Amino acid sequence: MVEPGVEAAPTAEQADPYATALAQFDAAADRLGLDEGMRQYLRTCRRELIVNLPVRMDDGSTVVFFGCRVQHNLARGPGKGGIRFHPSVTLNEVKALATWMTWKCAVVKIPFGGAKGGVKVDPKKLSLRELENLSRRYAAAIGPVIGPDLDVPAPDVGTDPRIMAWIMDAYSSAQGRWTPAVVTGKPIAVFGTEGRVAATGSGILHVVREAARHHGLSLDGATVAVQGFGNAGQWSARLLARQGCRVVAVSDTSGGIYSGRGLDVEAAIAQKLESNRVTDYAGADRTTNEDLLTLPVDVLVPAAFENQITGANAADVKAKIIAEAANGPTTPEADEILGDAGIFVIPDILASAGGVVVSYFEWAQNRAGLFWREEDVDNRLREVMTSAYHDVQGLAERDKITMREAATVLGVSRVVEAAELRGMRP
Ligand code: GLU
Repeated sequence: MVEPGVEAAPTAEQADPYATALAQFDAAADRLGLDEGMRQYLRTCRRELIVNLPVRMDDGSTVVFFGCRVQHNLARGPGKGGIRFHPSVTLNEVKALATWMTWKCAVVKIPFGGAKGGVKVDPKKLSLRELENLSRRYAAAIGPVIGPDLDVPAPDVGTDPRIMAWIMDAYSSAQGRWTPAVVTGKPIAVFGTEGRVAATGSGILHVVREAARHHGLSLDGATVAVQGFGNAGQWSARLLARQGCRVVAVSDTSGGIYSGRGLDVEAAIAQKLESNRVTDYAGADRTTNEDLLTLPVDVLVPAAFENQITGANAADVKAKIIAEAANGPTTPEADEILGDAGIFVIPDILASAGGVVVSYFEWAQNRAGLFWREEDVDNRLREVMTSAYHDVQGLAERDKITMREAATVLGVSRVVEAAELRGMRP
């Protein structure tokens, strides 16, 4: 037996994402004048379940993987949030991600609380069978705390629709009844929804369109750099390119590619799907994940991980607009530097909400036994994202605060309102 994954402590130069989430919350709590009890209640995660998952590997050995599911707050509805499969997953990271999901759902006004799950594993190193064994083990282990009215997982970094199908199947089998609404981001053939795969990228497009209009910037020919080329990065690049933007750089874990004339985004995606390394794309210069962040572009889309724009590199960022497709890519220290430099940051809890909004549509369709047309999903998503964007921008202008401060104040105040009405005080 191999030892369960031990939790790595954050290194000195790597800000702890949970500390970042709490610092953002504290600033919003100060603005809202929240009392000590309410602060304590919202600074704490409601439930933190750790699971150690023994999985039979193809060579006959058994490996025990560390996993968890965290529900930060359930005042506005069942928990909602993805499941991350990544070697650097820690409980603290998942607590941060769950906290951001609470504010995110509130900012776009969908009836969910915030949750997140993770397994410390490199899914690329598993065979398909091992991945299925692990996913089903995880589903069984968190089974007692998930459900359509309790907590509804979805994909995140390292997980995909196929894994959601296994989770739905494992949960439904254990319950002895068909329960598609226990998880979202499923393949369309098994009660998924049209438009879910593209949803995070669509959400980015909608907020970037509104921000560009606000700044008098035409998207036609606007230059874009995208850090991270998983689902969110690929779809953000694709949809911005379709809108006329010139995507000059994209990157993944293998490094980055750059072309001043603009990349052929479809060819870059095809390359990524073929070899899983975007740097195998021919006909572009090479760049790095770090250098990509400081390119002189109109729009920068961090679509990878937490802690990418930090006190160490924020002063070098030259983008006019940053649209955060990743959760937590910017540290509070960097936020201050970007704010002073007049860079317009569309924060994660607003910009990356397209995925969870369409997850809500999927959950609602599952519960009603309906299938919506792609056009209906797209139109409703545009409506939700555009109206949330203007709510946040309106508050930012009224109170002369940043978009992140405004989004956090808005999200937190809606959760406070629900908690007070329900009487869920500690
Ligand atoms: N993982 C995505 C996020 O961070 C989607 C979550 C969901 O659809 O529940 O927003």
